[in-house]
Amino acid sequence: MRGTTHQIDRPFPFKLVWKVDIPMKVKFFLWTLVLDRTLTTDNLRRRGTMIHPVCCMCESINESIPHLLMHCSMALRVWKSLTRVKPEIYGILIEAPKVEDLLERWTQGSNQELSRKVWRFLPYATLWTLWKTRNNKLFKRVEATEERICKEIKWTVWYWCASWKRRKKYNFQSFMEDWEGVLSGLVGPCD
Ligand SMILES: [Zn+2]
Repeated sequence: MRGTTHQIDRPFPFKLVWKVDIPMKVKFFLWTLVLDRTLTTDNLRRRGTMIHPVCCMCESINESIPHLLMHCSMALRVWKSLTRVKPEIYGILIEAPKVEDLLERWTQGSNQELSRKVWRFLPYATLWTLWKTRNNKLFKRVEATEERICKEIKWTVWYWCASWKRRKKYNFQSFMEDWEGVLSGLVGPCD
């Protein structure tokens, strides 16, 4: 079975992928990604598919999952801009060799209910959105700015919170506009 090589070095991070309340397609994306089976340029090249060995986001080095989703200049700018309230995340990101290392070392955030939800979803929404952005650029020639990507990530987090009953107590506009307040647990329910 393909993917078993991963299990030789470490157990499959089951909880980090399947026990999170995110859409099933995102779980599958993460699962293939952790098993190193996602179709990035370096994986396609390993299989003999001829693709130019350049990251489409920064046009510098070979595209790999850790590069594209964590260490690419565009990815770094996006993560940095979204996690300004906790600068130590940048260090975790730089030092994480693989996406699962980032997920394992990810922070819990504050105890406030909304903040806790958002911190839980944020790494998943960021990975997912960066992946979609890459595909849109590669296959549809759609460019996205850092600002646009960050907006989409916040929107995705809000959308994923929809199954949480208490979300209706919060205001979408303040969620989008006071992101640092949300992350710090300073944005409370409306009533
Ligand atoms: Zn890049």
